[in-house]
Amino acid sequence: TGLDPTLDARTHDLDRAHVFHSWSAQGALNPLVIAGGSGTRLWDHAGRTYLDFSSQLVNTNIGHGHPAVVAAIAEQAARLATVAPSTANLQRGEAAARIVARAPEGFHKVFFTNGGADAIENAVRMARLHTGRDKVLSAYRSYHGNTGAAIVATGDWRRMPNEYARGHAHFFGPYLYRSEFWSTTPEQESERALHHLRRVIEAEGPATIAAVLLETVPGTAGVLMPPPGYLEGVRALCDQHGILLILDEVMAGFGRTGHWFALDAYDVVPDLITFAKGVNSGYVPVGGVVISDPIAATFDERVFPGGLTYSGHPLAAASIVATLDAMAAEGVVENAARIGRDVLGPALHELADRHPIIGEVRGTGVFWAVELVTDRATREPVSAALIGRAKTALLERGLLPFAADNRIHVVPPCIVSDDDVAEAVGIYDEVLTLLDKEI
Ligand code: PLP
Repeated sequence: TGLDPTLDARTHDLDRAHVFHSWSAQGALNPLVIAGGSGTRLWDHAGRTYLDFSSQLVNTNIGHGHPAVVAAIAEQAARLATVAPSTANLQRGEAAARIVARAPEGFHKVFFTNGGADAIENAVRMARLHTGRDKVLSAYRSYHGNTGAAIVATGDWRRMPNEYARGHAHFFGPYLYRSEFWSTTPEQESERALHHLRRVIEAEGPATIAAVLLETVPGTAGVLMPPPGYLEGVRALCDQHGILLILDEVMAGFGRTGHWFALDAYDVVPDLITFAKGVNSGYVPVGGVVISDPIAATFDERVFPGGLTYSGHPLAAASIVATLDAMAAEGVVENAARIGRDVLGPALHELADRHPIIGEVRGTGVFWAVELVTDRATREPVSAALIGRAKTALLERGLLPFAADNRIHVVPPCIVSDDDVAEAVGIYDEVLTLLDKEI
């Protein structure tokens, strides 16, 4: 119903004429037209459908078009579509209460932002004001967002053209498959990465460092599961030097790893938690900082010098309430954990057994990376051109993929079914068979 193939051409033409896209040279772009979606499926105006194994930018954890969330947004729009952040609003309070209920003990306040990057900005600001120190240490293999401090805290290539913020230094986190530390076991990688971080802290001057900022599970950089003891060791190093720990849960939080927060799988309590994406599956742009009690207390008497017109926007707040309630009622987080453990994880490992192009499979829940290599012994990454061909071949078969560097990230919505996984694995299998011949 409502199909009109001419709208695909019009959408494409309007986009190419007037829309300026992120992270791209604009000339040669040919963006996929998406007109609608439901659950794990998307479609264009001609009725071509795609199985969404990207969750867009790894954010539609509850899937597309969840009726309860859509209704909550519509109801709130009719009641009050916008209101100043200085007011008190019921949905905003309900959203904050639901978020802190899922945080560790000792977190009672939420500062709402418009997305993930400004969550990072404000967490960094809080850490600097609370400690009276300037410097922020973060990982080379990280993405924290595209604003002043967030992009300079980011480790990947996107930082270099944007290095205008001051007070940032970087370190290498653990990544056993491509270890910087010549490690051969996860335990060794953990210990050596902690030694490296200790040396960076000492060399940068512990008394100058406000915070260590880390993605609990680095996402865009490759779903780099922290090895045993690593996060706990980072916490101990921070405690030793009066440094705050900010865990960035923008991508990993709210179900992606099969937990409400990715940090729930580790024995670590940070000082600040940043979130966005999965908290409302991106139905309305929103993010925020969950603030531990001592940091919140810093601003009981002292003015917090930060704010946003749309902080705690009622449409965003209503969508958070409805999303978190639906996720709880429908067992969405439990589904992500089960799918990862019993269905998707085993299926991806089985693909790795049969396809020499796969160097490594790693992940948890609905958060997986498949590393493609030209040679398993040397672990040489495949080319960007090959990844481009892989993306095209997957799309042609009706699967919307997420690719980064030499990897395919397998990141469906948390509501993904066993049948969806079987269908997707069949498509990956077919495309990997083609790609095996190229190496
Ligand atoms: N932090 C992490 C871990 C992310 O993955 C992202 C986005 O991908 C961000 C921060 C930035 O979020 P946003 O794009 O909403 O500003």
